[in-house]
Amino acid sequence: MLTIIGSGPAGYTAAIYAARANLEPYLYEGFFSGPAGGQLMTTTEVENYPGFPEGVTGPELMDNCRKQAARFGTTFLTEDVESVDFSHYPYTVRGKSSSVRTNAIIIATGAAAKRLDIAGTRDGEFWQKGVTACAVCDGAMPIFRNQPLFVIGGGDSAVEESVFLTKFASIVYLVHRRDQLRASKIMQTRAMNHPKIKILWDSEITKVEGDSVVRRVVVENVKTKKSHDYDAGGVFFAVGHNPNTGFLGDQIALHPNGYIKVEPGSCRTNVDMVFAAGDAQDHIYRQAITAAGSGCMAAIEAERALLDKGLIM
Ligand code: NAP
Repeated sequence: MLTIIGSGPAGYTAAIYAARANLEPYLYEGFFSGPAGGQLMTTTEVENYPGFPEGVTGPELMDNCRKQAARFGTTFLTEDVESVDFSHYPYTVRGKSSSVRTNAIIIATGAAAKRLDIAGTRDGEFWQKGVTACAVCDGAMPIFRNQPLFVIGGGDSAVEESVFLTKFASIVYLVHRRDQLRASKIMQTRAMNHPKIKILWDSEITKVEGDSVVRRVVVENVKTKKSHDYDAGGVFFAVGHNPNTGFLGDQIALHPNGYIKVEPGSCRTNVDMVFAAGDAQDHIYRQAITAAGSGCMAAIEAERALLDKGLIM
């Protein structure tokens, strides 16, 4: 009847609403693509999700959402969706070992961290040997202990990851390409006041060097064009995200940046009975609470559309 693809706050919320409406949804929660629960599984404290005055960890929040979706009758499929076929109705959703025919689909596959193409950071160089795109996932590894660590970016993620890394690092350099952070004011204050964070303004890392692990980075000032070598034990990208929409091929309308196009104020895509929720369709807010809200919208819209088609009573 209804299949939800994706298991972050958007997917789980859609499942809670759909299951409570007796739609008996299937939910593909992913496997190789990353932990079920999405980006919040690699977040520490979530301080801005309403209802948790003392904060809640991302994994705890997602675990609770999953349990709530299970309680009302969601069937979880623990694998990645490899393709969808919107050419025949009911549509087909295909995983590696399972395939579901479905009357409605909610796409809630979220987004994944971006990498920059810097010399020394590529696959086969220092990628995953001191260069990563998730401080919270990897920062506690022994190779990063008491080392100078470099975070690239100027948004909330870059600040959050820098603060997190101060627990392990001798010093954290926040390398930002401009002279102003994009992060919210409260996060900016945290970064600027932290004794173990030093911000390198107007700067870019142009090279990462080492032996079996990262040992040095070259940082260039984009205004003066002067370069400086720093000792380094790790480099962390925090430069935004790409939506996980590649598996859709060209079967659905996307924005030029790859995010799914939805009708303004709704979760409807340009394909009948296909809805999108969460970060896969949101390149503006990208918050857990907005993802959850859009998951609720998508489920209600899917239920109404199934009613209109006479597929449910
Ligand atoms: P973001 O806000 O899009 O910031 C990306 C940063 O990466 C920007 O500072 C950008 O520089 C920089 N960047 C992008 N491409 C680059 C390149 N090619 N070279 C060098 N730098 C580059 O992404 P985000 O920090 O991941 O945050 C995403 C959303 O999640 C935001 O809405 C944010 O508020 C939210 N978030 C909130 C929290 C929190 O409240 N605790 C934590 C994390 C994320 P420019 O500034 O020059 O464009």
